[in-house]
Amino acid sequence: MTVFTHPEFDHHEHLTFCCDPETGLRAIIAVHNTSRGPALGGCRMFPYTSDEEALRDVLRLSRGMTYKSALANLDLGGGKSVIIGDPRKHKTEALLESMGRFLEQLGGLYIAAEDSGTSVADLRVMGRQTANVAGIRERPGFDGKPSNGDPSPATAWGTFAGLKAAVKHKLGRSDLEGLTVAVQGIGNVGYRLAQHLTEAGAKLWVYDIHQDQMDRAVAELGATPATAEEILYLPVDVVAPCAMGAVLNDLSIAKLQAPIVAGAANNQLAGPLHDEMLWKHGVLYAPDFVINAGGIIDVYYERTGPDPDAVRKHVDAIGQTLHEIFERSDRDGLPTGQIADQLAEERFKHFSR
Ligand code: NAD
Repeated sequence: MTVFTHPEFDHHEHLTFCCDPETGLRAIIAVHNTSRGPALGGCRMFPYTSDEEALRDVLRLSRGMTYKSALANLDLGGGKSVIIGDPRKHKTEALLESMGRFLEQLGGLYIAAEDSGTSVADLRVMGRQTANVAGIRERPGFDGKPSNGDPSPATAWGTFAGLKAAVKHKLGRSDLEGLTVAVQGIGNVGYRLAQHLTEAGAKLWVYDIHQDQMDRAVAELGATPATAEEILYLPVDVVAPCAMGAVLNDLSIAKLQAPIVAGAANNQLAGPLHDEMLWKHGVLYAPDFVINAGGIIDVYYERTGPDPDAVRKHVDAIGQTLHEIFERSDRDGLPTGQIADQLAEERFKHFSR
């Protein structure tokens, strides 16, 4: 296993390999860049089949957080951690507390939040050993409702703001009355996004692998059910992927009929070339790490003190950032994902606090 010459290394500032034989903890903490502030990112627990697989994942994800936080204009750097193990079999309070002690050793360089395989409750257990965990406190939510730390409402609101910016840019309209949108995945974020769209007068098609989620969207929002095969390819104004990654690939892009892709799912592009493919296909793509930053914005404000109005304004600004990306993409003749990367780099490579 290589580290400094690893293809995903990309000048990481700091890597910590954590091992505690007593609790069985094996973890890697990656800090990509701290020029804007401490590195905040999720702590993922997954049964990686090799150390190499875990290293690749943590490096890739950690770098992504630097870009996401810079584009969200947060005083945060990028980092991520992975615990190697099956969350259903190997997760114990002792292991989580051990992880908390490793976080404490880093003295605030990295702050962990929940991710796949870990929950708010798990982060609270780590928090017995360190203050360097985030997204764990009950607080007034940005929407006026009490929040238990779940970032999904803010993510959905930011995705809604970003979707509106994309519609304005591509279709020249500010009013969503009668806009047609296909939402893939109606879970925590997708359902809330669907609610905002319905309230704004949009007409929805939905698909989820769970029938009860579909039934709820049909009954409560008047959405039209679609099939797995058709949801991405309907002749609608916007496709909103809100389930899993890699949905934008060679096959799917060729079949897309919507002029806009704007959804919350992480890692929507199957590979870096798909950004350009969408652009050449005439599709306006709202880069996922820009449009889905509402959650990290919400978590950030937990640390600075709850301020629902400030969170809402900050999440709304996702629309302005996307507007800037779309304008630059037109001006420079480059795909939106490439422009988003450039803009992020301007914001973290030349940042002085
Ligand atoms: P979730 O698990 O609550 O919802 C995902 C939904 O997608 C579920 O209802 C699931 O049944 C459905 N689904 C899974 N596979 C599917 C498929 N093949 N086709 C259609 N539906 C499918 O997750 P979430 O929190 O709503 O997150 C949704 C996406 O947004 C994920 O990619 C996540 O990484 C990303 N994201 C979420 C947040 C957040 O704050 N929750 C923040 C940033 C990014």
